[in-house]
Amino acid sequence: MTKYIFVTGGVTSSLGKGIFAASLAKLLQGHGFTVTIQKFDPYLNIDPGTLNPYEHGECYVTEDGAETDLDLGHYERFLNIHTSQANNVTTGRVYQTVLDRERKGDFLGKTVQVIPHITDEIKSRFEAINQLTKYDFIITELGGTVGDIESLPFIEAVRQFIWDKGKENAIVCHLTLVPYLAAAKELKTKPTQHSVKMLSESGIQPDIIICRTEKPIPSEVRKKIALFCNVSLDAVIQGIDKDTIYDVPLEMQKEGIDKVVLKKLKMKSKQEPNLQKWKKFLTKLKNPNKEVHIALVGKYIELQDAYKSIYESFIHAGAACSTKVVVKAIHSNNLTKANAAEILKGFDGVLVAPGFGDRAIDGKIEAIRFIRENNIPFLGICLGMQMAVIEYARNVAGLADAHSTEMNKKVKHAVIDIMHSQKSVKAMGGTMRLGAYECAIEEKTLAHKLYKSKKISERHRHRYEFNNDYLDILRSHGLITSGINTENNLVEIIELKDHPFFIGAQYHPELKSTPENPHPLFVGLIEAAVKYKK
Ligand code: GLN
Repeated sequence: MTKYIFVTGGVTSSLGKGIFAASLAKLLQGHGFTVTIQKFDPYLNIDPGTLNPYEHGECYVTEDGAETDLDLGHYERFLNIHTSQANNVTTGRVYQTVLDRERKGDFLGKTVQVIPHITDEIKSRFEAINQLTKYDFIITELGGTVGDIESLPFIEAVRQFIWDKGKENAIVCHLTLVPYLAAAKELKTKPTQHSVKMLSESGIQPDIIICRTEKPIPSEVRKKIALFCNVSLDAVIQGIDKDTIYDVPLEMQKEGIDKVVLKKLKMKSKQEPNLQKWKKFLTKLKNPNKEVHIALVGKYIELQDAYKSIYESFIHAGAACSTKVVVKAIHSNNLTKANAAEILKGFDGVLVAPGFGDRAIDGKIEAIRFIRENNIPFLGICLGMQMAVIEYARNVAGLADAHSTEMNKKVKHAVIDIMHSQKSVKAMGGTMRLGAYECAIEEKTLAHKLYKSKKISERHRHRYEFNNDYLDILRSHGLITSGINTENNLVEIIELKDHPFFIGAQYHPELKSTPENPHPLFVGLIEAAVKYKK
């Protein structure tokens, strides 16, 4: 029988519910169980695909082409599993399902209401993921903070679900903040007590409380939290800040959360968690013997979360190469032909980020020119790859006004053009070329050297593509198209002949990098950066 764990958050947002959920899942996986995690978001968008990255950070794309919350990236990176559309549910999706049924006449004669219709739909989605694979544990993270108006139907659905399943089959882990007041030299438990009280008013008594804290929580404070929040002492878990999120599973193991969870859900461990590979990754991460500086050129650089998977991929690749990777984000708006050299000098490698629209495009192109001319290792992702094609067309192939029709509809040399299948698309939500597609890799190319394979599968999220009308002219000037989707002849990877490391991918390698399987393109970039530095 499947056991259910709900993860809620109180006091404030950004407590790291996603990292906690992924860490707990990692431990349970280590105990020999099958585990998946899903995220329920209270906002009304059907999915985050149409959201600006400034709103909720990166949009994470799954194998099956779902545009999802970035927490799914953490789930995949920690668990080495694939998630899918079913792993991310929003209020919008719930309402859409219920309203579609209402129009079909499913509720004929009845008043359709938040309770029971919306809560029933939420409850059914708590279990829906079990239809394809039967899991031992399903962890459900509720987005938002307890007390938010928009979270109420989810909280009520959790209450009913626990009532339906019984306390030994469904529990709640509640994350709170235990702030340290420097003036009083004290850790404060009141915010935790209040948020647990708020949860109790909705009929939910948390089973485990994870106290996010900057300082170690002494035993008398733990006792106080246990007593006033009505949980057993071993269920008060200290969630202390760590240098890296990848430390959290081990920290949670030290706190014994896996034991408490198994006890409360009446489950017997099949084995002691074997986190050997994970620990090996951490050892390499923490003991680098080299250092490189990488520039990340993009237009959402103010927000760390906007390029979450890219930053994480650098961490994985750095550990694989025993190299400390210092990433500095550079706003493409600030780059011009005149200052590119000044801004980019001193970097051992550059990544030009994905993106949409024409804001800050020229800076990306100027950065790429400088990188190409100065043999700096380069990785271009999606828009970054497209800009590399444009730069090459303009400055090497002599097509001075080459551009993408995304930026200029009337351009003469549309070296990047809208995909044929996208021409008739009018609606913006969920209509890009999304998810995993195969790509054939040409032998004796940099891509082949990195992947060591002739066939790969990578995830996509785009509407524009390399225009094959320009294949011959660009190839004749030295551009190599080393990866092609053979079904529709779409160019997936470009590289350059006379450059030590210059590679652009139409897909998103960052979505498949994990600590245990760092992505070859990122590893390649770091290796090249180490060489370049020498
Ligand atoms: N805007 C480009 C396109 O739609 C690139 C998308 C991206 O970088 N994800 O093709």
